[in-house]
Amino acid sequence: MSGEPRDRYAVVIVGGGIVGLFTAYHLARAGTGPIAVFERGFLSSGASGRNGGGVRQQWETGATVALAREAVAAWRRFPGEFGFNPYFRQGGYLFLAESAAELAQLDRVAATVRAAGLPLERLDPRAVARRAPGIRTDRIQGASYLGSDGTLYPFPAIWGAYEAARRLGVDVFLRSEVTAIDSEGGRVLGVRVGGRRVAADRVVNAAGGWSGELSRRAGLSVPNVASRHEILATEPMKRFLDPMLIRLSDGLYVSQTMRGELVGGLSVPHPPGVVPGPPSSIAFLRRMSASLVDLFPNLSGLNVLRAWAGYYDDTPDGMPVIGEDPRLRGFFHANGFGGHGFMLSPATSLRVARSVLGERTDLDPARFGPARFLSPGRAMHAEHLQPG
Ligand SMILES: Cc1cc2nc3c(=O)[nH]c(=O)nc-3n(C[C@H](O)[C@H](O)[C@H](O)COP(=O)(O)OP(=O)(O)OC[C@H]3O[C@@H](n4cnc5c(N)ncnc54)[C@H](O)[C@@H]3O)c2cc1C
Repeated sequence: MSGEPRDRYAVVIVGGGIVGLFTAYHLARAGTGPIAVFERGFLSSGASGRNGGGVRQQWETGATVALAREAVAAWRRFPGEFGFNPYFRQGGYLFLAESAAELAQLDRVAATVRAAGLPLERLDPRAVARRAPGIRTDRIQGASYLGSDGTLYPFPAIWGAYEAARRLGVDVFLRSEVTAIDSEGGRVLGVRVGGRRVAADRVVNAAGGWSGELSRRAGLSVPNVASRHEILATEPMKRFLDPMLIRLSDGLYVSQTMRGELVGGLSVPHPPGVVPGPPSSIAFLRRMSASLVDLFPNLSGLNVLRAWAGYYDDTPDGMPVIGEDPRLRGFFHANGFGGHGFMLSPATSLRVARSVLGERTDLDPARFGPARFLSPGRAMHAEHLQPG
């Protein structure tokens, strides 16, 4: 945490989630000049402190698989490089299909993942039961499994990124909301925060579920929509589940922590946008427990310890938005990460930093760039495999 902001920074990053912090770290390593991160709440108050910790490389598009693969390698190195251990446990991810359409989706994923050289396995129901003892297999038609996928604890990762950025001189201001973006002649001039102006030629929108709101504060219309997602943790029980399990039919995802709690969620309908009100709903608790007990009948007596919610930042094609906005020079997007921004963040934030530095990245602008939403009717490369 830092005292008063300077009058001018080389780069201002809005949002102290994992994306903003990693981006600050990479920029500071590159020696960009003074960098500030403004965070409206506290570190991890956004989705970065509310997620399921899932890390997977099973995706429908090769571009996402490539990022995920790089991110997995980075998470493995994280304790050594950052001095904090998020306990990345590579127990695999197991996707369950209960219909021909879901099997076909897993086939598409398998083709993409194997083309990238990853040893994805297709499992029959008996093999599923060996990986997930106690599971009910009568409706399962098949599954896909990749053993190098896994789960981590988000908080040590956030603290590691924060401390590393601070050591490199990044100023991080908490409880500091950016209320406006100043610009003139299609160029960013800085931000307003705490009633004062802070000048910067480059501003990064890493505001997660609030990124649409921040872009609008810069006068830009974007298609990002916040969507609320609920999640829970049960009381701990003896370890029995290594992989993260995902049931495609209802989007249930569940994994078991090292302490033995089951952590998981499933989507229940909420109005789009950031909505006031209690973070958890009875509808979610009912649907989540019914789905979990349907899959594991012997869990019926298990108690829920806590439940909470957070916001995805969704885009129409399920792909992130990374790069400078062509309508406003110096305004960079690092948002639209849906339900998978944490796992990909070591790889995506490196690209965000490169684009802020004016370097070319290996990201295809047609898939990741903000301009892809500016020509209506243009074909999009969608990523559909969204749960967990
Ligand atoms: C229930 C749930 C489960 C999930 N499970 C997974 C998972 O298993 N694996 C995975 O990879 N991802 C998962 N995700 C998604 C993941 O958490 C997000 O994609 C990721 O954390 C996004 O990080 P971020 O830094 O972009 O956003 P955030 O962590 O949301 O950070 C954005 C920050 O910006 C701040 N901010 C907003 N507006 C302003 C402003 N005007 N001024 C200053 N600060 C501002 C906010 O307070 C917030 O802290 C899940 C999300 C949820 C909600």
